[in-house]
Amino acid sequence: MSSIFTKIISGEIPSYKIAEDEKHYAFLDINPAAKGHTLCIPKREVDYFFDLKPNEIGELTKFSQKVARAIDRSLKPIRTGVIVEGMEVPHAHIHLIPIYKETQAFSLGKKVEVTEDGMRKLAQQIRQKVEL
Ligand code: 5GP
Repeated sequence: MSSIFTKIISGEIPSYKIAEDEKHYAFLDINPAAKGHTLCIPKREVDYFFDLKPNEIGELTKFSQKVARAIDRSLKPIRTGVIVEGMEVPHAHIHLIPIYKETQAFSLGKKVEVTEDGMRKLAQQIRQKVEL
């Protein structure tokens, strides 16, 4: 059975898309730890991040760097943090979480409320700054 994220890539499940290339897809996390929390995934469905081939980890990291730069340029956090966890969705992914103040809790356990309209606007802001 396909993962939720494979269904997002195919459009079967909707997402607030940020960027896409031949091998990767980026979209807003539906339950964000901070405004603009973005997930970067390989299109090839692999559960465990470290089961990706070394070149795939390299390519996903380069893609994530470009998306993080777009978050930095659009939302202007102090910096964008990175988490790889993968305990909930069995499809490798990199969390990009903007950090807006030094005291911000940096954890997947922390969630912020964002309306649908807010999510749409955040995705649009970030998308406009993506340079792949
Ligand atoms: P992890 O597997 O690293 O614990 O985290 C999975 C992340 O995927 C969570 O932060 C969760 O909010 C996000 N997530 C789970 N299902 C969906 C979904 O259907 N759409 C989106 N955009 N994010 C999801």
